Amino acid sequence: MIGTTPHPPRSPPVPPTPGDSRAAANAASVLRAVLAHGPLARSDIPKLCGLSPAAVSRQTTALLRAGLLHELPEPELPPAAAGAGTGTGPGPGPGRPRIPLDLHTGPLGGPLAAGLHIGVPFSTFSLVDLRGRVVARRAFPHAGRSPGRLPAEITAELGRFLRESNPAGRPLLGLGAALGGWVRPADGTVVRHDALGWRDLPLGARLSDHLGLPVSVDNHARAIAHAEILFGRPEARSSLLHLFIGNVVDAAFGIEGTVHQGPEAAAGDVAHLPVPGSPTPCACGRTGCLQASVSDAVLGAEAVRRGIVPDPSVNLLIDAAATGDPRADALLRERARTVGRAAALLLDVFNPAVMVVSELASILHDGYLDEIRDAAGDQNRYGRRIVAPHAGPAVLPVASATVLLAPLFRDPSRLT
Ligand SMILES: [Zn+2]
Repeated sequence: MIGTTPHPPRSPPVPPTPGDSRAAANAASVLRAVLAHGPLARSDIPKLCGLSPAAVSRQTTALLRAGLLHELPEPELPPAAAGAGTGTGPGPGPGRPRIPLDLHTGPLGGPLAAGLHIGVPFSTFSLVDLRGRVVARRAFPHAGRSPGRLPAEITAELGRFLRESNPAGRPLLGLGAALGGWVRPADGTVVRHDALGWRDLPLGARLSDHLGLPVSVDNHARAIAHAEILFGRPEARSSLLHLFIGNVVDAAFGIEGTVHQGPEAAAGDVAHLPVPGSPTPCACGRTGCLQASVSDAVLGAEAVRRGIVPDPSVNLLIDAAATGDPRADALLRERARTVGRAAALLLDVFNPAVMVVSELASILHDGYLDEIRDAAGDQNRYGRRIVAPHAGPAVLPVASATVLLAPLFRDPSRLT
């Protein structure tokens, strides 16, 4: 039918981001409206953004030129309507209000963001499109490599991945890198990563020098929070708490679309949060600290100690549970309950609209997510707010690339 959009709007207008310049805020508003509701007819964008048709036209023209938006084929019109059409020439402009616009994605074109997640046992490389979808990924195991040489080896292998995984030569916007520990995004420095023994490592500058790309670096808990705000559930944009459970345990908090960093970007260190009822001793001298109770390293070691798996691997433990080993299932449920009790403490403090818990077993199997929700206590207040990351097992590839994409969606005018 003439005048209908391919997908009608589904949620309220996307407001401009406060603090940006007017043009940057307008461009961001248009790009986010298309992200949330696209494909969209040009004529439907002004009311979604609260902008004038002329302002929207200026921004869509610039975003098309920058390759961030593209035009879809014109909807078919009946002959009478086509004869009375307002635009005849190709190209963007207010004269072609019904041509649907969408983010420039698809197998044949559109820019990509590269992602690098540096974990303790392995790194993950990825290529992600403007909708946060993974188009390529590769794991790079760290076994047998010294932490001191790791940055150079990761950089070399990542360069190979980027050359081999983009045969169509789609434009590369840059690289987002995410890792645990204390990371300072302003200058791309890893201030402290205990598990890898890194101190004051200028990771962003090294990656940028070797790859010749713009590079953004952030803590992975904040990176996942950004990915949830940009690509996940709409309520994450109002307020979001994220708890990351891996070899490193940390957290991030977002409000009104902004993820809190705090002075020196040190927010989110919850490694020594005391968990009620946990007797595990911690290197800090106390008992019941969150990281010492639930990290992947601790869980893997306990699985070996109980004779469930031969190596301290959470993946092996999850596989054992999936193939029917009740001891593996019991150990995973134990961890899930401890995580749930910690989540309840954080929910009490922050009262977010949604709480995302990134924990491998509960990402792969809903039963462990239910266990976390049950242990969080009062179901009415807490249980329904705890969710797994929207990207599921692709959470880290998506989140690392989002370290680059989140600033772009805040200010696309830097590319236009
Ligand atoms: Zn401790």
